[in-house]
Amino acid sequence: MDLPQRLVDGYGAFLDERLPLELDRYRKLAAAGQRPESMIIGCCDSRVSPEVIFDAHPGELFVVRNVANLVPPYAPSGFTHGVSAALEFAVQILEVKHVIVMGHSHCGGVRAFLAHRARPDPGDFIDNWMDLLAPAAKALEAAGHPLRADDPTALEQASVVMTLANLMTFPWIESRVQAGALRLLGAYFDVATGRLSAYDHTSRTFIPVAAPVHAGSAG
Ligand SMILES: [Zn+2]
Repeated sequence: MDLPQRLVDGYGAFLDERLPLELDRYRKLAAAGQRPESMIIGCCDSRVSPEVIFDAHPGELFVVRNVANLVPPYAPSGFTHGVSAALEFAVQILEVKHVIVMGHSHCGGVRAFLAHRARPDPGDFIDNWMDLLAPAAKALEAAGHPLRADDPTALEQASVVMTLANLMTFPWIESRVQAGALRLLGAYFDVATGRLSAYDHTSRTFIPVAAPVHAGSAG
């Protein structure tokens, strides 16, 4: 059992510093089960950890991470659907109140999508997965925004909006949203600055989130 030393050291820090503060919470969660109010759909990217960005405690966030924070449209079949299974569990069993799709800057998945159009030998999995982005790319181009490999921000943000639309293809999500029991929200994290924006459905833009405590330093 040779875990990388960095991880062993990190676990030691967890035991020394965080676990004493969280142990009571862990015990209660173990006894009563988890009841998170928010589900986050985020990217696998090592720089975009939802628990870090939202300073979350154990039991607070139900997190699914995949390449480029995507959700395939509702399509029940005999195939194995990891994202849809997590959604079903979070929405139908845990009854989360919010599903937040969090995109981010410098996304390798989005860059792969922009690059693969010119690549003759697609990989085994990534290019096929990233084809989920095609509707967002088409919508951008139709709106007069040509795709640029050197500036993926528009597509990174459009993919969040598209994923929110894909979520509404799940009948048990759509019915809860219509009933006011579930909210679908979009967010975008800038890796270089640590700033978070939230999608505004009215203006259809991402607006910086001003956290109350740190609003003064967010300008
Ligand atoms: Zn990413």
